[in-house]
Amino acid sequence: MNSQDYWKKFTTGTDPRNITLPKVKQVDSFDPVTQCTYYETPAQFKYVESEWPTMWETATSNGMNKTAEFTALNKSIDWSKMPKIPVRQATADGGLNMTGYDEDNDPDCWWSASTCTKPKHQGVNEDIYQCPEPDTWGLTYDDGPNCSHNAFYDFLEEKKLKASMFYIGSNVVNWPYGAMRGIKNGHHIADHTWSHQLMTTLSNEEVLAELYYTQKAIKLITGVTPLHWRPAFGDVDDRVRWIATQLGLTTILWSEDTDDWAAGETEPVSTVQHNYDDFIKMGSNGTMSTHGNIVLTHEINNMTMSLAVKNIPQIQKNYKHVIDVATCMNISHPYQETTVKFPSFAEYLSGKTATTGSNSSSSSSSSAGASSSSGSSSGSSSSGSASGSAASAEQSTGTSAGFKSVPANGVAAAIALTVLAALV
Ligand SMILES: [Zn+2]
Repeated sequence: MNSQDYWKKFTTGTDPRNITLPKVKQVDSFDPVTQCTYYETPAQFKYVESEWPTMWETATSNGMNKTAEFTALNKSIDWSKMPKIPVRQATADGGLNMTGYDEDNDPDCWWSASTCTKPKHQGVNEDIYQCPEPDTWGLTYDDGPNCSHNAFYDFLEEKKLKASMFYIGSNVVNWPYGAMRGIKNGHHIADHTWSHQLMTTLSNEEVLAELYYTQKAIKLITGVTPLHWRPAFGDVDDRVRWIATQLGLTTILWSEDTDDWAAGETEPVSTVQHNYDDFIKMGSNGTMSTHGNIVLTHEINNMTMSLAVKNIPQIQKNYKHVIDVATCMNISHPYQETTVKFPSFAEYLSGKTATTGSNSSSSSSSSAGASSSSGSSSGSSSSGSASGSAASAEQSTGTSAGFKSVPANGVAAAIALTVLAALV
């Protein structure tokens, strides 16, 4: 087997060009508990626990490094060509130990050390980190999909916005309708690893499994195999890039980081809003006159989605184009399957959209309901209600169809959009 052909063995019951979401509460409700209370499994998606890594554990778990498919993949890779770079050490508090690393010369293009994006070793795909087109905001959302994000996806659909969505493998198998919604709406779907760890601290086999099983999950649910991925925390070096390259994956990082995940957690909301304000200004003060950006934002929780909804109108006023990374990069085929075609930038300008972009969502007509569903929530009470929602969503997702509850794990809290309207 040629390692690049691994995806041809994946199975799926989804035609990415013709996705119909059933009229079930998980698809059209805006109430977080209702969306997540039980989870009907899409007919074509048979989740068999023994066939997947344990959710939110390293993707070699549950014997996944010994399966026939993974063994074959592993053997198909010529590891002798991999850059000789050591596995990094994590610190006790979960950070990266850079002791002894030559950060000034950064021989391994370790982004965490130097924000390096141009590989220094052979045979490694170069990162994408900003849109080349002027006056362009590269719209990206990390850490989905999630059972409780219907209103946010409705909002994007209503605004006719396409984003690059970096999906976590554990979330994809846990909440398949969220991923199906993403591809149905024509978003650019990419891989964000199985369990969202610091990739440079994982062994070769673990890095491969984190990417491979996420690719497999995305293909199973959405019918496409991504050609792009984003490392959690941006933690990538040429060893990790090389392994990703074996799977045909190119790394997408960012040029601007809103830090939105920290809003109300480790940073005041005002600090994150200030970040947004700064990046928005760049669209009208000449900074983006020769190129665009790619902005790191998240769909993790109520706060990050609310900040997105609040700021998108201003972003659109200050930037000529607010688009996904595939479109701004003129990548017409962002998946292994060439049946799905994205518009070139020129085609986008003339009004063409991705061929996946069927636009009649079962819930789009009720997007206004997002504004009224919990209009009584005030901004000041949002954090309290959000954390309550997270707890109930976690508990409730573990009740049916063999799905396990997903731990919050710092990035994956299932939080609803109950106060979306209050912050708009
Ligand atoms: Zn992430």
